[in-house]
Amino acid sequence: MSVDNLVGRRRVLAGGGAAFLLAALEGCGQGILKSGRVDTSAPPLQPRLQLPPLHASPDRITRITVCTRPFRAEGPRLDLEQIGSKTIVHNYGHGGSGWSLSWGSSSIAAQKAMATGARDIAVIGCGALGLTSGLLLQRAGAHVTIYAKDLPPNVRSSLATGVWSPDSRICLEEHATPSFNALWENMARQSFLTYQTLLGLPGDPVEFIDTYGVRDDAERQTPPTPPADDRPPFADLQRKLIGDLIPNSEDFAPGTHPFGARYVKRYPMMMFNLTAYARLLMSDFLANGGKIEISEFHSPADFASLRQSTLINATGYGARALFGDESVIPVRGQLARMIPQPDIHYGLFYQHVSFIPRRDGLVFQVTGEDDYYGYDDAGTTPDRAEAEHAVNTIAGLYT
Ligand SMILES: Cc1cc2nc3c(=O)[nH]c(=O)nc-3n(C[C@H](O)[C@H](O)[C@H](O)COP(=O)(O)OP(=O)(O)OC[C@H]3O[C@@H](n4cnc5c(N)ncnc54)[C@H](O)[C@@H]3O)c2cc1C
Repeated sequence: MSVDNLVGRRRVLAGGGAAFLLAALEGCGQGILKSGRVDTSAPPLQPRLQLPPLHASPDRITRITVCTRPFRAEGPRLDLEQIGSKTIVHNYGHGGSGWSLSWGSSSIAAQKAMATGARDIAVIGCGALGLTSGLLLQRAGAHVTIYAKDLPPNVRSSLATGVWSPDSRICLEEHATPSFNALWENMARQSFLTYQTLLGLPGDPVEFIDTYGVRDDAERQTPPTPPADDRPPFADLQRKLIGDLIPNSEDFAPGTHPFGARYVKRYPMMMFNLTAYARLLMSDFLANGGKIEISEFHSPADFASLRQSTLINATGYGARALFGDESVIPVRGQLARMIPQPDIHYGLFYQHVSFIPRRDGLVFQVTGEDDYYGYDDAGTTPDRAEAEHAVNTIAGLYT
């Protein structure tokens, strides 16, 4: 990964001594003589973080997308429901964690569907949860048909940020009971392991990047930020339950990185290049003999027209209307997409804005001060001002 570009200052100077680098090093005030030569009597210099600059400007925005996270205060719905002659296995309501938890959650749903004895199984929905449900059912020996109103790239899943975020708006803290925590941990660990099998593939559907959290002051931010008012906090499960999967972070003091007098923390992060990844899931599903039919269901009674008696319901936010489940709360999220920049393999987080270097288009996003940002907002009209604010905030790091 090209972001591991911690180049010793001595090595950089020996390799060319560009004036630009000298100027940068002088900013650190150590080991450089006024003549511009290296003071070899000085103690070894601290390595300096070198990162290729990002070309971030609003005129490079190619698309602004908005979508709603399917949040449920009590977490995803994974129970069985009998409707007429059909057994429905629910697999929806994953908030901001749907991609991250998909393999683990869909594995539970697939096991429940297989336990009915059926081997010809319908999956309703073709997003992150529907596709992984379909693939896992196939691996368990079932014939699978996906029925969905929309397919990637026209599903909500295709409008996600695309990072490993397994506890993002997954439930409220008050619902993170010991049994929910055990379920979540199982889903998260299983998904994490499955994602490791998807690294290194052509098109990089899944890859690790380094992300730099940038702060203006030395005070350490400990995410997640609790809500400023008396609303109940969201669950924070990752550090508590799967801390062993989180690699160590590394701090960079002012003067040892390209972002001026700021404080920087580097941490590795798993990223999903969703265009390539969704295509991979679709093509694997079809190559395994899976069928896809475009259908819209207006109520569960419409399932009577299907030949299959066992169904996995992976309709995401659509379950709110289809099943009248008002426990599904929309949490609006907007991405500004920008012309890809192939030499950028690092992410940034600064002043509540995130940047992800997706291969299928750079992603800028205002994340808000806490997880209530966008809560109960089903509006999907793009906000150009918000998009430009996201881009300009990140661009400001390079001035
Ligand atoms: C801005 C934003 C950023 C996000 N970032 C991340 C992230 O970085 N990492 C992460 O893990 N998660 C992230 N998420 C969350 C993630 O995108 C969702 O949890 C996930 O996409 C839900 O997937 P799904 O398959 O349940 O639903 P969907 O993708 O909405 O798929 C639902 C499927 O069901 C079909 N359907 C729905 N209703 C009907 C109906 N009545 N009849 C027929 N078909 C129907 C749809 O056509 C579609 O095929 C983000 C979400 C948002 C909004």
